[in-house]
Amino acid sequence: MSVRVRFAPSNTGHLHIGNARTALFNYLYARSEGGTFILRIEDTDRERSRDEFTDSIVEAMNWLGMSPDEGPVFQTDRMDLYRQKVDQLLEEGKAYRCYCTPEELEAQREQAIAEGRKPKYSGEWRDRTDHPEDAPYTVRIKMPLEGTITIDDMVQGEVTVDVDELDDFIILRSDGTPTYNFVVVVDDASMEISHVIRGDDHLNNTFRQVPVYHALGATPPTFGHLPLIDGLSKRAGSASVQDYRDDGYLSEALVNYMSRLGWSHGDQEIFTPEELTDLFGFDSVGRSPSNFDRDKLNWVNSEWMKRLPADEVARRWVPFLEDRGFSVDADDSLTAVAELMRDRAATLVELSEVSTYFFSDDFEYDEAAVEKWMKAQNRPAIENLIERLAALDEWTSDAVGSVYREVGDEFDLGLGNLAQPTRISLTGSTSSPSVFDLVATFDRDEAIERMQRGLQLLEQ
Ligand code: GLU
Repeated sequence: MSVRVRFAPSNTGHLHIGNARTALFNYLYARSEGGTFILRIEDTDRERSRDEFTDSIVEAMNWLGMSPDEGPVFQTDRMDLYRQKVDQLLEEGKAYRCYCTPEELEAQREQAIAEGRKPKYSGEWRDRTDHPEDAPYTVRIKMPLEGTITIDDMVQGEVTVDVDELDDFIILRSDGTPTYNFVVVVDDASMEISHVIRGDDHLNNTFRQVPVYHALGATPPTFGHLPLIDGLSKRAGSASVQDYRDDGYLSEALVNYMSRLGWSHGDQEIFTPEELTDLFGFDSVGRSPSNFDRDKLNWVNSEWMKRLPADEVARRWVPFLEDRGFSVDADDSLTAVAELMRDRAATLVELSEVSTYFFSDDFEYDEAAVEKWMKAQNRPAIENLIERLAALDEWTSDAVGSVYREVGDEFDLGLGNLAQPTRISLTGSTSSPSVFDLVATFDRDEAIERMQRGLQLLEQ
């Protein structure tokens, strides 16, 4: 049997981490089994559904590299099918019209509570045939009257519920709209979904849904209910995938991080997208809740900042620099800056922060550093250094390094007396990467100009 899985968000909000993890596990399972990954938009909540959220969900999935093979399929396009299935169940006597008024139902509910019973529909209209004419009705499904329902869940194992817990729930409201637990089953059955992978907050629904499959003459799919993610603060929980993107996280890192929210492979932490599709399987999806840990996400992202080819980092970095008002191209010089600075930054936003001095000379000089290193007596050496740098045949870190060593030897000066003034002149402070790399990563004219300007800082 071929694997067909679906991710079924409602389009009432953006894609956030919890749902993105569900989508990812569906996607990875489809890929690892050579199956089909389908996007179904559950848009029956007319009040809250929005096209813009559909677009946003699709955009987020594309960005994460998990575009669906089929869909989006919209439930609102399938209303005829749902009504047809309701009619079919009515005709076959597997569902029935219920004429209880909301007041009657409320009275039954209150009585059950007063008698210490769990409130559930009494089944009053299950066998009645004295249907009033023209009165509003709902359609209810006949649940089995005795026995248990067991599902063999890929994550939770065997879970059993006594049918006593369930009641004949409404599948069609009095306004003619079908209900969630019904349409999901019609969809999953008609779309030939083989595995339903979703959050374990849906486990209770599953016991209601299984009898619906049977009523429709369909075989229930295999279920996999993923444990929820703990530690999602209100902010992290409501943050969309695009928020993470805009905060400078890399899609590979977010996918890598989310894959580990419930799944593991030994103690390996870093996975390429290809490795994930090769290695993913439900044998290694745990039953206990996973924990959202921002520090770990940052660590995984910093690893991916180093693992991606530097020119790719540069390409993705451009919009972040443009946001700061720098006009840059993803060319070799930007790649060189990315290469030099990326291990100092956990995100693309941080990369911009630590690299600002490459794009702007509008910085303050660190006064304490100037005081300590900008010594007038070193002026001849520094002037000589600038001259030789300007005359270098090739502008590489090695060539720059030889100039520093030669000048240091000739003037009998320790390297710090040349390196620190250089750093201060180029960046404003003494904290920067290896000075030879730093100098060589700058455009030569820019480096020389800043060093000349720095001469003014030498105390008189
Ligand atoms: N629309 C449901 C949700 O977003 C999907 C449930 C399911 O996957 O069956 O939670």
